[in-house]
Order: sequence, then structure tokens, then C-alpha cells
Amino acid sequence: MRALRFHAEEDVRVEDVEEPVPAPGQVKLRNGYSGICGSDLHIYYEPEQAGVSLTEPHPVTGALPPQILGHEFAGEIVELGQGVAGWEVGDRAAVWPVYYCGRCMACRRGRYNACELIGFHGITSDGGGMAEFTTVDASMLHRLPESLDLKMGALVEPMSVAWHAVKLGGAEPGQTALIAGAGPIGIGVYLALRANGVDRIVVSELSPERRKGIESLGAEHVLDPTSDDLVARVKEVSGGLGAHLAFDAAGAGPVVQQALGALGATGILVVVALHAKGSDFNPTSLVMGEKSMLGSLAYMPQDFDDVITAMDEGRYDASGWVDVIGLDEVDDAIHRLREGEGMKILVESR
Ligand SMILES: [Zn+2]
Ligand SMILES: [Zn+2]
Repeated sequence: MRALRFHAEEDVRVEDVEEPVPAPGQVKLRNGYSGICGSDLHIYYEPEQAGVSLTEPHPVTGALPPQILGHEFAGEIVELGQGVAGWEVGDRAAVWPVYYCGRCMACRRGRYNACELIGFHGITSDGGGMAEFTTVDASMLHRLPESLDLKMGALVEPMSVAWHAVKLGGAEPGQTALIAGAGPIGIGVYLALRANGVDRIVVSELSPERRKGIESLGAEHVLDPTSDDLVARVKEVSGGLGAHLAFDAAGAGPVVQQALGALGATGILVVVALHAKGSDFNPTSLVMGEKSMLGSLAYMPQDFDDVITAMDEGRYDASGWVDVIGLDEVDDAIHRLREGEGMKILVESR
């Protein structure tokens, strides 16, 4: 089968590899689409920093590159391994792609998404979504209803990253929220907030293309942080209170300061972006007004179920911000995304 494999820094290749065979408890999926995201760029340019060792097998999965990429994907079951119950050939599913150690503090608390040895299917595992087929444990499958196609299925993962952040922040109807960054995760935060009853939302984004993208989904208060007064706008939209919640989906130091400044007293900033560089940060800005700052990583299985339900209810609109390419175009797409071009890119898996 054809597969897109990561070999080493700035080295991905479309290759012919052997089809996987489902072990007991696993299913074989024919993949439909697989998203490219910031994590893939991180792996491509700085694999060791992104948690992909070129020399040491992953401590949970034992995997080592060459690695089939694609951790945001959905497919159709074509074969059942021994002992798989509740699934049939022809069923379609999105995959919760997490491998966890079961022993660290997060795992003991049942918060597997925060495992200190976390691994992902399509990053540090045997197989991924950017190949015609892959095999995964049936326990990782989340059923797609009739209403959702496999493109929407591939968006369940990135939308769950955002959903998890929104839930972690404790979003409630009637609140005001600030979203910094309107890339795919910022869009996901916007749609998840709306689905959770938060409709007073201010979005801050540098790129005119991305501002337009989120406006076309219905965002009303979209501004350019270099020319507009963010704090003043949030005050105005919130009736003078400041934001209950802020989301850093941009990953730049100044954004954190701005977002904390836009929070009302007791507000919460949820950081859902990785920062390439640190920045000066004075914790006094948390003490005054008893504000909180939380990190949000990945998702739990429940987030997948919640997103699928919200998608089934029609709360997710993929028009205008999702492009589809072929396996041969992935290398090129990674370079374009790094230049800040484009929005969400899905790869057709065959
Ligand atoms: Zn991703
Ligand atoms: Zn763990």
C-alpha cells in the first residue's frame, strides 16, 4: 500500500509498504482522510523536540521511524481482528489516537491525555492515517453517524483538541470569551464555545486571511491586535466585566500578556498552543484578580464523543477553511503551512 513516511528531519517520502494485519482486539481501517497540523510541522523540522526519537524506541509503543504520519484521521473498517465485538466490516470511525503508560500520576488519575509518556498513532506508533490502511485497537474507535463523511471524521481530532480546552476552562452560557489565534484550533475553540452556549466571543488574529475565515463562520468581533485595542473591545463586548475565559491558540509570548490583561477578575486563560520560545512573564498578573492559567493537551475519549454529537447536530461547518490534497503533496504542504499559507489541510489517504 502507499504510505507517507517520516524518516528524519525534513525527510518524508511516499513509499510502498506492507499492509498491516489486525492483531487480536484490533481492526483494520481503510483510511479516508488525515489532517496535517502544527504537530506534523514540529515533527518534520524538530523531531526530537516533538517527542519523536530517531534512535530510541518510544517507551510505550516501541515504535521508531520510519513512521507513517497522520494522527487526525477517520476510516472504514475492512477487517476485524480476533475477539472484536460491537463493530462490523463497513462501519466508519474516527480514532482516538492516544497511547499512555498507565503508571504516571496523570494516568493514575484517569487523565490519559496528560500522560508523561504519551504517544500517538501516526506520530510514535506502528502506522498512521496517511496510508491506505492502518490497524488500531477497537477500543480507540469512535463511531461516525450517517450524517458525517470521512472528511468531517478526520476533523474530529483537531476539533477535540479545542473542545477539551473549552471544557477545561469551564465554559458556560452567558460568558464572554477571547480567542487569540484563528487557525484551525482557534476555529475549533470558536465552534466549541458556540456549541456550549457562549456567544459573546472576541477573536484576535494577525492574518487578514484567517480573520476573514473565522468571520465567514459567523464571528462578529474579529480584530487585528496590532491596530485595534483588544482590552477595550473585550470590555465593551462583556458589558465592562472583561473576559471570563481566554484561549491562547496562537503560541506567541505577547498574546499571553494581552489575554491576561483582557480577563476579568477570576477569569481563566487556557493555553492550547505550543510556544516555540518562552517569554517574560510576571506571575503578579495572576495574583491580582485571582486569575488562572491552564495548559490544555489533546483530548479524552469523551471529547471525541462530544464533538461527534455536536457535529451530528450541525454545529460544525467545514466550509471555507479546509482543503484536500494527495499524499504526494504533503511535503510541499508542510512548507506552505510553515510560511503561514493556507488553513486546514486534509490528505486523501490513498
Ligand atoms: Zn494534530
Ligand atoms: Zn502515563
